[in-house]
Amino acid sequence: MPSFRSWHFNFSSRSLISPRPTSLHNLRPVIHRNMTKFTQEPHKLLVIPGPIEVTDEVLYANAHPSMSHMSPDFAKVFGDCIRMTREVLYSKEGQPFLISGSGTLGWDQVSANLVEPGESALVLNSGYFSDAFADCLQVYGAKVDQVKAPVGGAVDLGDVEAALKAKKYKIVTVTHVDTSTAVLTSIKDVAAVVKRVSPETLVVVDGVCSVASEEIKFDDWGIDVILTASQKGLGTPPGLSVLVASPRAIKTFETRSVPVTSYYGSWKKWLPIMQTYEKNTAGYFATPPVNLVYAYHASLNQILHGSVSLEERFARHREVSQRVKVEAEKLGYRGVPLGADVAANGMTALYVPEGLKPTDIVPRLLKKGIVVAGGLHPAIKEKYFRVGHMGVSVVDQSRGDIDKVIAGLKESLDEAKAEKA
Ligand SMILES: *Cc1c(COP(=O)(O)O)cnc(C)c1O
Repeated sequence: MPSFRSWHFNFSSRSLISPRPTSLHNLRPVIHRNMTKFTQEPHKLLVIPGPIEVTDEVLYANAHPSMSHMSPDFAKVFGDCIRMTREVLYSKEGQPFLISGSGTLGWDQVSANLVEPGESALVLNSGYFSDAFADCLQVYGAKVDQVKAPVGGAVDLGDVEAALKAKKYKIVTVTHVDTSTAVLTSIKDVAAVVKRVSPETLVVVDGVCSVASEEIKFDDWGIDVILTASQKGLGTPPGLSVLVASPRAIKTFETRSVPVTSYYGSWKKWLPIMQTYEKNTAGYFATPPVNLVYAYHASLNQILHGSVSLEERFARHREVSQRVKVEAEKLGYRGVPLGADVAANGMTALYVPEGLKPTDIVPRLLKKGIVVAGGLHPAIKEKYFRVGHMGVSVVDQSRGDIDKVIAGLKESLDEAKAEKA
């Protein structure tokens, strides 16, 4: 039975008792109530590629007293979230959709609103999550072709060009960071190829594991849809599907010839709601996750107006990623991505050294209070594990999270080797 204690808040009426410094001065008043009295319960360090560690401010915002989703106060917070979501993607034109659900709901939204049954979609497949997106598209009646990358590689742009020349596609989908392999695909380059070879084709990006940890210039790069979720780089508890659509994608949706093939995921229902909230007034189709929206608001505030700029945030993700990868390889682990040019900055996937199994390392890390993720890609599942380095663990280096991870990787390997010897 889960104990109450495990989510008990520590309160102090006199002083900030947080063991870690927080940047309170950067927060807007709406999430400022009594926050100096709040700090989260000690817990294991969560460094899987999502959900990730969240800040005290975000967790406290999630504990906001119950609010009506129709209240003007909440409508303003929702409106801010819509505007700030655009800012994280350097977008002025995109239309955000913030809907209760996980990242997976983004695939359903794309499949149901943009692709009509019988139309063709090209999936650029760099691992597990591309397989799943293809599966989802097929459920809604799309005809799916795939360009596949080798394990640890990104798709070859020449292959993409050839596929686009051979057939007309309504959409191309690409996974920005494939969370099963930590492979980063240059969505800027993919979008450029699509624009050149098949300009009418919409470019759809699965950015669940990249938004807010990788730089994304939505308007400049000509992205038509990016879909993500609250619990990865966006540093918020799970439960919010975040999607941004270009004016062109919205137009494609508006001019479809057959009705949308989803009820809950229909943009026909959600577009007016998003437009209403953006005017800081409330609208209703289905109840939004009110508390989570407060939490998301707190996180976006920290991402955009916190101790470091958005540019600096991305730079820190690159530096920390580099450090984790270099240190891990020095110890004898080997990265899954086939080259530095296809390696993600918000996570690392590591093969364990010859003669060892992930089960020699992962449980040892857990004993040290460090939670990493096992393998996910079916072809290499028994040989590697995954570490996330996104969000506050990267941006607030005074926490020491990354030092702890690197030390844990070393100690766990030493122990495993000593046991085998
Ligand atoms: C996590 C993830 C998903 C699925 O998101 P959920 O929130 O688990 O539904 C999809 N794509 C990628 C790349 C992911 O990392």
